[in-house]
Amino acid sequence: MRLLENKYVIVTGAASARGLGKSTAQLCAEHGATVAILDLDASTAEAAAAELGEGHIGLSCDVTNKKACEDAVATLMEKWGRVDVLVNNAGITQPLKIMDIAPENYDAVLDVNLRGTLYMSQAVIPGMRNQKSGSIVNLSSVSAQRGGGIFGGPHYSAAKAGILGLTKATARELAPDNVRVNAVCPGFIATDITAGKLTPEMNEQILAGIPMGRKGAASDVAGCVLFLASDLSAYCTGTEIDVNGGSLIH
Ligand code: NAD
Repeated sequence: MRLLENKYVIVTGAASARGLGKSTAQLCAEHGATVAILDLDASTAEAAAAELGEGHIGLSCDVTNKKACEDAVATLMEKWGRVDVLVNNAGITQPLKIMDIAPENYDAVLDVNLRGTLYMSQAVIPGMRNQKSGSIVNLSSVSAQRGGGIFGGPHYSAAKAGILGLTKATARELAPDNVRVNAVCPGFIATDITAGKLTPEMNEQILAGIPMGRKGAASDVAGCVLFLASDLSAYCTGTEIDVNGGSLIH
């Protein structure tokens, strides 16, 4: 069964080769969606979109820039006439201890994760409200729920916890217009977000805390995003889905 036939889907931060966004974009395309990959660099985004097959679009968009978010969505509305799904996936992390978080660290991590999620949502909401349908899926993290302990510092946990609050309050506000907003909370997934800073000791310690005994794969997260994006989850809004191999059971 193809779950996103005739649907138009935006995935932010989806150009990273081993990333959750790319895997999600691929799965959405396999399920019949037309996908736009938004990322910092235009040519990388275009190349990632081309890999999905014909008809998909790659655009440069820094999600911390409100005008850039509005422009990207305006371009897509002109081409597509509608946006059915937004996946707020763009994110960065930093392995810092509380006393080492400088103002610029706070700004960088909060801006991409939380401000970016707000700005991209604001850009698609008017169209979704008009069409009386839409699904927004936000990438939070187990780090928000259990207070870090994976890789990112307290500012990352705060940003991802902020995303949960934003998700739930937006879900409540948009529900009367049949626009659903949900979050996914991945645990430890093998991607490049750790930027070479994950030491073998950290790796071992994290694995020891995962009952399933393995890291997650990007496709493990993509499957849950697909569920929330599609009509299979038609009565779910304001929820959070854990994808963590049992590392937080609550
Ligand atoms: P990744 O580093 O592989 O990909 C992130 C992408 O976001 C990159 O392509 C990057 O260019 C893009 N990006 C960064 N800043 C941006 C900006 N300002 N505007 C637009 N794009 C920007 O990371 P990933 O592991 O695939 O993570 C994807 C999401 O999942 C993130 O929100 C992350 O916090 C979350 N997450 C990841 C894990 C994990 O273990 N990998 C766990 C929990 C949550």
